[in-house]
Amino acid sequence: MKEIVGRFAPSPSGRMHLGNIYTAILSWLSVKSRGGKWILRIEDLDPQRSKLEYARMIEDDLHWLGFEWDEGGLDGKGPNGPYLQSKRHHFYEEALDRLKSTGLCYPCSCTRADILATQAPHESDGRVVYKGTCRPAVLPSPYIEKNRAAVRIAVPDEEITFTDRIKGMQTVNLARHCGDFIVRRGDGAWSYQLAVVVDDALMGVTEVMRGDDLLLSAAQQIYLYRLLGYTPPEFAHVPLVCNEKGIRLSKRDKSLSMEYLRAHHTPEEILGMAAHRASIIPTSSPISLLHLLEKSKLYFSILNNSKF
Ligand code: GLU
Repeated sequence: MKEIVGRFAPSPSGRMHLGNIYTAILSWLSVKSRGGKWILRIEDLDPQRSKLEYARMIEDDLHWLGFEWDEGGLDGKGPNGPYLQSKRHHFYEEALDRLKSTGLCYPCSCTRADILATQAPHESDGRVVYKGTCRPAVLPSPYIEKNRAAVRIAVPDEEITFTDRIKGMQTVNLARHCGDFIVRRGDGAWSYQLAVVVDDALMGVTEVMRGDDLLLSAAQQIYLYRLLGYTPPEFAHVPLVCNEKGIRLSKRDKSLSMEYLRAHHTPEEILGMAAHRASIIPTSSPISLLHLLEKSKLYFSILNNSKF
């Protein structure tokens, strides 16, 4: 049987909070309870927001909980490095060339204001759907370089279906969900969608477990996997942790930040709370990592949405 490879891919833009750590705990348990490998990848694509000191804190918080990664982290151990996205440009460049060679990429100079101006009034859930203003009349067509333009990839008006291990069957039409999307920004920055696909594929990741705010991104990613000739991993999107107002936690919510949690709880208490929240254990009493690992074996081998 193929080895299970999971990963935790935090962006080092602040101290982790309960939501980040919840995802880390579940993804670690999911692969470790099935004898797999766990990678720590630092997603520092955004130079303005990413800080080395936050990456160090992430590692320290993971160690405090008792986690060790088999590959990756700041010292970059393992055969599939570098494990910092800021050092992986050459891989993204190569993938972009391959995407361009499909004839489905085109340059786009639309500003955010241009794109918002094309939105229909009912599209008010904050999602921006690109209407194809710069799309060539005929596709596929050769990519014509244009200075300071973003690179977009054309999406088909058809359904992409996948089964999420937690959320069940999902059907997404990319034309309606997001439209042709950016794979490289006009300022040269790589898009999250491209980088995450290239990294997960090249690192041999077989399971992507992360917050469910990224559930629909999985369809964009599956589309890129197909165009690049890679096999998509299994996806498992865990419900986001919300604050008492029902709003998803952000790195600004200090009350549930790891700084606060470490000052007021033991690792066993945090593990117990997380495991209870995911219904791995019936009460939220403290539990050791080893004991929890044991309890997780059956749970993750038959993971399905009924548990969350
Ligand atoms: N870097 C992303 C974050 O911290 C996670 C991306 C992923 O797991 O695919 O939210």
